[in-house]
Amino acid sequence: MAEMILEKQDMAAFTAEINKGYELFGPVKNGKQLEIARVNEVSDMVLEGYRNTDMSPKNLFFPQSEEMMAFKKYGDDANIYKDSLKEIAPRVIFGIRPCDAKAFSVLDQIFKNDQFIDNYWFSKREKSVMIGLGCNMPCSTCFCTSVNSHPFGETGLDVLATDLDNRYLLKTLTKKGEDILSGVSCLKVANDDDLSSAKSLSEKAVSEISGNLELKNIDKKSVLDLFNADFWERVQEPCLNCGTCTYVCPTCHCFDIQDEVFKDEGIRVRNWDSCMSWLFTIHGSGHNPRPGKKERVRQRFMHKFKYIPIKRDGEIGCVGCGRCIRMCPVNIDVREVVKLMNS
Ligand code: SF4
Ligand code: SF4
Repeated sequence: MAEMILEKQDMAAFTAEINKGYELFGPVKNGKQLEIARVNEVSDMVLEGYRNTDMSPKNLFFPQSEEMMAFKKYGDDANIYKDSLKEIAPRVIFGIRPCDAKAFSVLDQIFKNDQFIDNYWFSKREKSVMIGLGCNMPCSTCFCTSVNSHPFGETGLDVLATDLDNRYLLKTLTKKGEDILSGVSCLKVANDDDLSSAKSLSEKAVSEISGNLELKNIDKKSVLDLFNADFWERVQEPCLNCGTCTYVCPTCHCFDIQDEVFKDEGIRVRNWDSCMSWLFTIHGSGHNPRPGKKERVRQRFMHKFKYIPIKRDGEIGCVGCGRCIRMCPVNIDVREVVKLMNS
C-alpha cells in the first residue's frame, strides 16, 4: 500500500499519464443529470461540490440493455447462437463513491456462484480500475454506516482518493491500484499532515451521517414472521410500482431476456427489469406469485435485508446510498421500512 499526493493543478497531467491504454471515466453532466461516463476532457469532470450521481453507475458493467448473442432462423448455420460478448478497452473509473464500489462487490457475489459466472458482468469488471473518491459531504439521505459501508470505505476499490481541498490523497488498495499509479511522475509521497487531514475528514463525514439504523432484530426474526408482518399493508399503500427505486439502485440487478427477430435473423438481449413490475414474475401458466402491489413491495425490502443476508453470510443487499429515498415520487423511505422490519 502506498499513499501519494496529487495536486489538483496536476490533474490533467495525471490523467494523461494513466490514460495510456485506458479509457477514462468520471462524473460528468448529461443534461441535468450527473453520471459516471466516458471523459473526453479532464475539465468535463464535475468533482467540486460533487455528492453522487443521480443514477447508480451499475450500467458501466450491467448496461440497461445489452446484446448477448445473435442467431439466424434459416440456412446452414440456422439456430447457431453466436456470442455477442464484446471486448472492452481497459478503463480507469475516477470518482466513484465508496457506497457504489461496495455495491459492485455485492453484485460480484450475485453474478457468480459455484456453477456459473456471468461473463457479461465480469468481462467489464476485470478491465476496470476503480479510483474511488471518499465522501467529505454525505447527503442527508445517506446511511452507509448502518449497512456495512462507510463514506471512506475501501471495499471494491483499487485506489481511494481523499479530497484535501487543493490536492488528493491517493491510497492504493490492490495490485491493480499500485500498477496504475506506478511511475506517474506528478505524484509525491504523502506526509503525516496529509494523512491526519484525511483521517479528520473521514471522522467528520461519519459524524454527519444522521441516524444509525439497527438491523439486529431483522437477523433474529424468521423469514415467515417478517413475510407475514402486518406493516406491509401500510408500506405498500402509497407505492405506485413505478420501479424508479430499483432502476436507480446500485444493487438491484433483475433483468429480463428477450429475443428480437428481424426477418430471418435475430438477437438475444437482456434488459433491466424490476420486481416492482407485475410482468416480472408472471409464469407461462398465467399464475403470478406476486400478483399485488403488497407482494412486490415486500419482495424488494425482503430481498435486500433478509434473503441476501441469509444467502451471502450476512452481506446486506443495500449500501445506504439513499438514491431510492431521493427519487421515490411518493417519498417511501427505505430507512423507515427497515425500522419496521427491525421493530
Ligand atoms: S420509487 Fe417509490 S413509488 Fe416507485 S416503485 Fe419504488 S417505492 Fe414504489
Ligand atoms: S435500496 Fe436505496 S439506499 Fe439501498 S442501495 Fe438501493 S438505492 Fe441505495
